Amino acid sequence: MEDLKSLDLNELTSLVTELGEKRYRAKQIYRSLHKNMVDSIDDLKNLPKAFRERLKSNAYISRFKIASKLESKIDDTKKYLFELEDGHIIETVFMKYKHGNTVCISTQVGCKMGCSFCASTKRGLVRNLTAGELLNQIYCIQKDLNERISNIVLMGSGEPLDNYDNVKKFLEIINDEEGQNISYRHITLSTCGLIEEIYELADLGKPINLAISLHNPFNIERKKIMPTANKYSVKSIIEACHYYAKKTGRRISFEYTLISGENDSKKHAEELARISSGFNCHVNLIPLNTVKEYDKVKSNLRAIKEFKRILDSRGINSTIRRELGSDINAACGQLRIDFMSEREKLAR
Ligand code: SAH
Repeated sequence: MEDLKSLDLNELTSLVTELGEKRYRAKQIYRSLHKNMVDSIDDLKNLPKAFRERLKSNAYISRFKIASKLESKIDDTKKYLFELEDGHIIETVFMKYKHGNTVCISTQVGCKMGCSFCASTKRGLVRNLTAGELLNQIYCIQKDLNERISNIVLMGSGEPLDNYDNVKKFLEIINDEEGQNISYRHITLSTCGLIEEIYELADLGKPINLAISLHNPFNIERKKIMPTANKYSVKSIIEACHYYAKKTGRRISFEYTLISGENDSKKHAEELARISSGFNCHVNLIPLNTVKEYDKVKSNLRAIKEFKRILDSRGINSTIRRELGSDINAACGQLRIDFMSEREKLAR
């Protein structure tokens, strides 16, 4: 059975014509799914009833259950745990910024990248999310809150470039005029640096913002916290960034999680400034979120400010990320693990 929500317009047209209907029906279905965010075949009211029945024996529309929803009392951040149709749990975060409502989506159930400070990867990769499941995170929140979402960041659990085909389809559908029509300029994809896919994404020529999880400018040290660094050197990542910036005209951002005593020294700031100079980029300084499985702590405010001062003095733009939703554990992957451990305890 096909999930209609995961099909692009071409695939939907093939399905509709195979079922003996006119091509324009595909566009009707596509609009209902992606513009009106319809969640069941019975609600595709502009289709003849007989066709709806035929469709039901060949396809379905995937949906989520809201397993839990946490609302921050400090800011307007909301964190959703969605239960997928096969029972897996994913996290999605809604944030209110001055420049618009932003949703941070997960791209995989779990993750296999193995970064030592990240909770999402601690139980490995379970599976990729389908295009329909990527879209559904936006649709569900938009309907639940009755708020328009204008910005998307692919920075939740999972590595988006390790799920390239589904992510690519998601980007096209979410940007489509017949769907939510969210501008590529308002979408940011964050990666730990899978080079081949960065080049592929660049060659699509879409003005999507690219964020690179760098966390350390020195190869030897980066390998200690990010296993992918064994395959992709800092130098090759920077080269790919130059290519991306040139091809898309977009600024690159570097995510830099500050870990006390690990990567927050003067020498780190200077090397980071050196490799980021000469092209359009920006550094996002993120105080480490403490996770149970990693015993390091975030840099103190003085160290963070000094790190930023060094970048400033060398002409590198940077910002210190505000910690939204700190009262609801809004950081990567932590809630999902807590929820699953709780569920496992109950099942015992
Ligand atoms: N796999 C992608 C996207 C998901 S992680 C990537 O690596 O970019 C999103 C961001 O959160 C990354 O920059 C990641 O390094 C960071 N992150 C993960 N765990 C963190 C923690 N405990 N504290 C601060 N940032 C963290």
